[in-house]
Amino acid sequence: MVRVTKVYYPDREKYNSYVDKIYESGWLTNNGPLVRMLEERLENYFGVKNVILVANGTMALELSYRVLALENEVITSPFSFIATTNSIVYSCLKPVFADIDPETFNIDPENIENLITDKTSAIVPVHIYGNACEVDRLEHIAKKHNLKLIFDAAHAFDVNYKDKSILGRGDISTISFHATKMFHTIEGGAIVTNNDEIAEKARLLRNSGITPDEKIIGAGTNAKMNEFEAAMGLCILDDIDMIINGRRKVLEYYKKELDGYVKFQKQNPDANQSVSYFPILLKSAEEREYVHNRLKENDINSKRYFSPSLDTLSYIDVPVPMKISRDIADRVLCLPFYHDLEFETIEKIASVIKQACSENIVQE
Ligand SMILES: *Cc1c(COP(=O)(O)O)cnc(C)c1O
Repeated sequence: MVRVTKVYYPDREKYNSYVDKIYESGWLTNNGPLVRMLEERLENYFGVKNVILVANGTMALELSYRVLALENEVITSPFSFIATTNSIVYSCLKPVFADIDPETFNIDPENIENLITDKTSAIVPVHIYGNACEVDRLEHIAKKHNLKLIFDAAHAFDVNYKDKSILGRGDISTISFHATKMFHTIEGGAIVTNNDEIAEKARLLRNSGITPDEKIIGAGTNAKMNEFEAAMGLCILDDIDMIINGRRKVLEYYKKELDGYVKFQKQNPDANQSVSYFPILLKSAEEREYVHNRLKENDINSKRYFSPSLDTLSYIDVPVPMKISRDIADRVLCLPFYHDLEFETIEKIASVIKQACSENIVQE
């Protein structure tokens, strides 16, 4: 069976040597030495001032809303992983959806301004599949209306926007280091910001509101990453160039094999193309189902990711359907994607897709 994602395991010996260090230090969690080491290495890697490691990517979003004291309404994208919207609802805020661009699959800045009311406190766009949002334009809108801007950058580990890591943008960018992501710490995530004041608040809230000199200054939560998770991240960070290069080759090969047969996501020209996911767009919902099933019959898993569109969730009140998001959610399919996916397998996947698409046309 060809899987959609393959969790990356670093060298066992190397991981063991970190485990030895954890046993020697007697420090399992609470801002331990490996967590601090990984934060510093990631700050250098991204070229940003603050990386605050947390328990997962969802917590990174929730903590960000707290740190920035969001209230009432938050404008966000309906086309994302469920955690983007759930984190807003869970924080007792109201998600207000702005529909996406049909080619980039990102929130369309054109749709944002007429949704802004005196209840709006923030915009939460997503760099979906690592495709950079129109960052400058979104920052301009946020500034003009005095709104906070939090980028859900869960997919954007490897993305530079105008030659700098996109993670430095907005008031905060958040990222997930879940095991299925390109870079992972088993479970984990981070708040990234160039604003030291925001960073300090986030560090306090992460640790139950307790200051380093043990004063309690607010209702924080427990969002700490532990040492075993940080050790995993330290090992994988050593391998990240190899992982990214491998994935880039896979991406290019897919593009070559499938070009002209299916549509690809239109990439932001101000950024490099991420190697986080490989989504394709089929002509109809029917064709997507057909291709998905044909792949499955050939022992190849693909994922209807991200489906359904989040404006269809039963617990969210949406005044108008997000037509474009729903359409894309019905037609998109993520193909198997990892650094050592063999070219032979890619050829097989591509031939099943090409065959399925031609059969589907005949049936119609
Ligand atoms: C994975 C993901 C998250 C949440 O991350 P977890 O670490 O699983 O909590 C949030 N947003 C997006 C877009 C994601 O893909």
